[in-house]
Formats: sequence, C-alpha cells, structure tokens
Amino acid sequence: RRWLSAPRLCVVGGGPAGFYTAQHLLKHHDRAQVDIYEKLPVPFGLVRFGVAPDHPEVKNVINTFTQTARSERCSYYGNVAVGKDVTVGELQQAYHAVVLSYGAEDNRVLGIPGENLAGVHSARAFVGWYNGLPENQHLKPDLSCETALVLGHGNVALDVARILLSPLDLLRVSHRLMLQRTDITASSLAALACSKVKRVWLVGRRGPLQVAFTIKELREMINLPGARPVLDPADFTGLGNAVKDAPRPRKRLTELMIKTALEKPAEKTEAAAAREWGLRFQRSPQEVLPTADGTRARGVRMALTRLEVGAPRETFCAVPTGEVEELECGLVLSSIGYRSLPLEPALPFDPQHGVIPNSSGRVLGAPGLYCSGWVKRGPTGVIITTMNDSFDTAQSVLEDLQAGVLDVSAPREGFGAVGSILRSRGVRPVSFSDWEKIDAVEVARGKAAGKPREKIVDPEEMLQVIGH
Ligand code: FAD
Repeated sequence: RRWLSAPRLCVVGGGPAGFYTAQHLLKHHDRAQVDIYEKLPVPFGLVRFGVAPDHPEVKNVINTFTQTARSERCSYYGNVAVGKDVTVGELQQAYHAVVLSYGAEDNRVLGIPGENLAGVHSARAFVGWYNGLPENQHLKPDLSCETALVLGHGNVALDVARILLSPLDLLRVSHRLMLQRTDITASSLAALACSKVKRVWLVGRRGPLQVAFTIKELREMINLPGARPVLDPADFTGLGNAVKDAPRPRKRLTELMIKTALEKPAEKTEAAAAREWGLRFQRSPQEVLPTADGTRARGVRMALTRLEVGAPRETFCAVPTGEVEELECGLVLSSIGYRSLPLEPALPFDPQHGVIPNSSGRVLGAPGLYCSGWVKRGPTGVIITTMNDSFDTAQSVLEDLQAGVLDVSAPREGFGAVGSILRSRGVRPVSFSDWEKIDAVEVARGKAAGKPREKIVDPEEMLQVIGH
C-alpha cells in the first residue's frame, strides 16, 4: 500500500529507546521521516551517562545508533527539552505520531530520616558524577571515609561498589579489554585517586534468592583485583537445595555466591587484599544516623527482616522482626531504583508504577501518542530488553499507519513547524553533525590522556565547541 503522504514521526529522547524506535520505523517503512528530540546537547542517554566506564564494549551500540542518525530520513535535535522548550501538544500538531522515550530522570527515595544528610547520595547521582552527566558534576562525594554502604542488590549497586573499590589503574584500563583506557571523567578519577574507601557493604531488604544483580556483574566483583569478598556462609544455609529446580540463571548465581562464601580466605588469591566488600541480607534501612554535630552521615540503623510469602506467591516481602542493627559508614549510596516522571501534568501517567500507561506502546487515551523504553515498562532491564520493547512500540506505530488509525492524508510540517517555535523561544538545537564535532573534540582530548575520550561535562562548553 502506498502512503498518502510521507509519515512524519518524532521520538522524544535520544537514548537507546529513542534510537531503536527510530531504527525500526526507518527500516520497515521506506518513506517515514523520523526526528529525534533530546534534552541534552549530546545523544545516547544512559549508554553515555549510565553504563559503567569499565564496560566499554556495552557502548558499541553507539555505532548502530550513529548509523540510524545518519540516515537521510532521520534528524537529531539535541538541546531541546520537550515539555519546556516545546510541548508534546505542539509536537503532535507537527507530526503524525509522537513516541515518548525519555527514560527515567529521577530515582526512588528511601523515605527515612537522615536521607538528606551530607554523605548520602543516590546511586543515580553518583553514577552521573563519574560518567560526566552535567547535572551531577558538583556532587563532590566525600571519599575520606573507610566504609561505604550501598543500599540495593541490583547491577547498578554492583557498578558503584566496583568503581569505589577498583584499583586506579583498573579504572584507567578496562578489566575486560585490557589496555583500553576507560572514559571515566578526569575529575572523578582524580577524586577516586584520593579515596580512603576500602570497604563496601551492599545491603538488601530481602535474601540471597531475591538479589536482582546478574552473574556476570557478580563474577566481576568477586574477581576484582585487590578486593576481597566477605560473604557469611550462614546466609546461604540450605540454599543449594532450594535452588536445585530454580531457573538456570538463578541457580548459577546462587551457587556462585555459596561457593564464594564457603571459600576459605587462605584459598583466595586476594587474601591479603587491602579492600573488601560484602553482601548483607534481610536488612531494611530505618534511619541514616548523623554525626554528633548533626551535619553528616555516620552510619545507618537497619531493621532486620524475615521473609514472608507475598502475592503473587513467588514474591517475598521483607517484614521487620523488631531487631535492629547499626552499621558505621561515612558514605551512603542508595541504589533502590530509577524513576520516570510525567513530562507534562496533562499527559497520561501512572504514578504508582512510574510508567506511561500503554498497550504495546500505544499510550492509553491519547491517540497518536506512543512510548518506549524505561518510561514504557519501568526502569529495569538491559539495553537488549529496551531494544525489544522499542521495536514492539515501533511495530504498533507501523500497524496504525497501515490500518489508517493514524491519519496521514494531510502532510505535517515536522521540524519546519517545531524549528520556528524553538527559534521564537531562543532555543538552538544541536544537530547530529554538531554532535560529531563534539565527539571529535572529546576523542582528541582523550587521545592526549590515553583514553577513548575525555567527556566534556559542561553543556556551555559543548555549545562553544560547535560555535553556538
Ligand atoms: P535513557 O537511556 O535514560 O534515555 C532517555 C533519554 O531521554 C536521555 O538521553 C534523556 O536525556 C532524554 N530526555 C529526558 N527527558 C527529556 C525531555 N524532556 N526532552 C527530550 N529528551 C529527554 N544495560 C546494559 O545492557 N548493559 C549495562 O552495562 C548497563 N549498565 C547500566 C548502568 C546504569 C547505572 C543504568 C542506570 C542502566 C544500565 N543499563 C545497562 C540499562 C540501560 O542503560 C537501559 O536499558 C537503557 O538506557 C534505557 O533506555 P531509555 O532510552 O529508555 O532511557
């Protein structure tokens, strides 16, 4: 079937979800034009600002995104905050369909006293700090203490623990691609070089069978040079049997924890390690305890918990037993999840689950509006998961085009209209070739330091580089 006029589609957010949605639309519709709007001048979302610097191979997806952006039917407009610089309603006027792929810009809070004391940060902010996210460049985490507490048992928790404990030459040189230096920012590397942190406890409300991290990340932590795992064998009693019939990934993960817990220190090559880390289970944070002068964190009081079968039956809730424990630490990083926010108050949003209500990416009650990625299904899952759900959303758009649900009888102006709106508001978008100039400068600066790139962390400087 020939289309009446070329569909003009736009995507809000230049992270994996935005790029994969655009890729699928362009691949499966030979006339569709797709514009990507991104809040920051630079693209790629959490691939640039989330994925750990010592996991450079994960960032190879950038090559695929770059190919998409270079397509003649795709345009990238960075430095445009949708909801502020242009509204979703204005985009809907200019495009036949709008896909919201703006990720999860916030984090869940602990909701306990002391959470705002100095020395307490969200893992999101800490990750943003070492990865060069502009908004987190002033974080200045105090690394003068010996013990840090990471609240959470997911892969992000392991990422931040690993960065805190990695010997410096390992941060500069990736563990996995030996001799390739990482793109950790120069300022965070300098701060980590002076760090006194030598012990990290990762604390979870539930037990070893409920951890959310995956085996690859755990293994990396266990094998971290210069750092000794400290796992209490008592935490794993009887679990070998319990996981016999569990799905294979859970079984292997649990077996690795058990094996690590049972290994005698003498057997460990890193027995004399100066640094150590451990997993603490069934502890729910109750209060961040202040120092005597009340200015900063000195520890966390935790309620010990027992597990009760929840609903559905496979889930377990952590219920306080009444016993409490205090753990001394000078740095607390809460890694209990990212959180999406509504872009505009009038748009459909499910605050309880932190997602846009949708069916296969079609926003409920808002024809012509779609969503993909973390804002569609919640802030969990790796890039491949995000890719699959973005393809699913793009497929819904294609089906709606095919079925005539999206009316393409009249052409839409696309960026022609949005560009005028942005000009009238003094907003200057950054094109993909602009980004490639920024990229080239970062790579050149990195080369001088023997790194893949030295990220520019100040948006003003990014704009200067491209002559804005
Ligand atoms: P995002 O990547 O967050 O992209 C959303 C984009 O939208 C951002 O660029 C943001 O700036 C932009 N945006 C926000 N608001 C607006 C607005 N108002 N207007 C315009 N644009 C806007 N996965 C792996 O496979 N391997 C890993 O090693 C890995 N490590 C991770 C480490 C961390 C710390 C985190 C948090 C995640 C990690 N992930 C990893 C998961 C992966 O990053 C996500 O699955 C993926 O990034 C989600 O894609 P997204 O596009 O939905 O969100």
